[in-house]
Amino acid sequence: MAQTLDSDLRHALAARLRYYHSLGIYDFYRRERETSELEISAVAAESEQPTFTPQPELREEMSARRSAVAVVQEENIFEVLQPKPEQAASDPVTALKLIREDLGDCTRCKLHQQGRKQIVFGVGNPSAQLMFVGEGPGADEDAQGEPFVGRAGQLLNNMIKAMGLRREDVYIANVVKCRPPGNRTPERDECDTCSPFLMRQIAVIKPKAIVALGAVAAKNLLAISAPMAELRGRFYDFMPSGARGDSSWQGAQLAVTYHPAFLLRDPRQKGEAWKDLQMVMKLLGLELPKKAPE
Ligand code: SF4
Repeated sequence: MAQTLDSDLRHALAARLRYYHSLGIYDFYRRERETSELEISAVAAESEQPTFTPQPELREEMSARRSAVAVVQEENIFEVLQPKPEQAASDPVTALKLIREDLGDCTRCKLHQQGRKQIVFGVGNPSAQLMFVGEGPGADEDAQGEPFVGRAGQLLNNMIKAMGLRREDVYIANVVKCRPPGNRTPERDECDTCSPFLMRQIAVIKPKAIVALGAVAAKNLLAISAPMAELRGRFYDFMPSGARGDSSWQGAQLAVTYHPAFLLRDPRQKGEAWKDLQMVMKLLGLELPKKAPE
């Protein structure tokens, strides 16, 4: 039996699970083989038809599916289906505190030993209508223990202000909570290990809208890989697996826009980012300013 699941297959499964959850389907069963090989042989002999033998490529596909079902229970995506301490909390402040305690002095992925000063958990309104999710902490964030506090953070603050909100109105977090060395892109295994905690934060906060800042955040939240041009300009239904059965929340609408650090490098794209934010403002019922921010 396979002990690890191919990353692409796992992401595809995660996306499929979220889709089923969005339809209200939470329980999955492996269908027992309906007819034994013996019975097939008997029927084949009776009808004088040749016994069905899967072609190699079909056999491979079938066995991959079986492995996925067997192994997937060991993967993080299914870990979020287990009861979590925060589910006993009566308010989001306590629930977030319990998630932070559960995270502890985390050593779950290799980023814990690659020069991080501290874990950057997330900041903001525990009942925010709007969440921003970035990629990972940079040097300033690592030093201060708060996401988006450097130059990119200043630009994000301006974006939030342009929406008619204050930083303390929204919740801000990242896919990974420890700084990748040299600000490199977090690797797949690091994102896979850390992002269940982000999902739990989202399930507690229950935002109406989430803005994924950049392709890395979008890819991890949506479990799809596509260029920014294809990802932007629309909403995606988003419901973390751990929020299943929560009748108080129908999930969030997720939009994708450029990471503020990218906008600092290419300010010409600010207008495009503003279009994305206006789409989110409309969803949240926020008044659209007549003039675009500088
Ligand atoms: S990035 Fe996340 S999973 Fe990895 S060590 Fe930090 S808190 Fe733990």
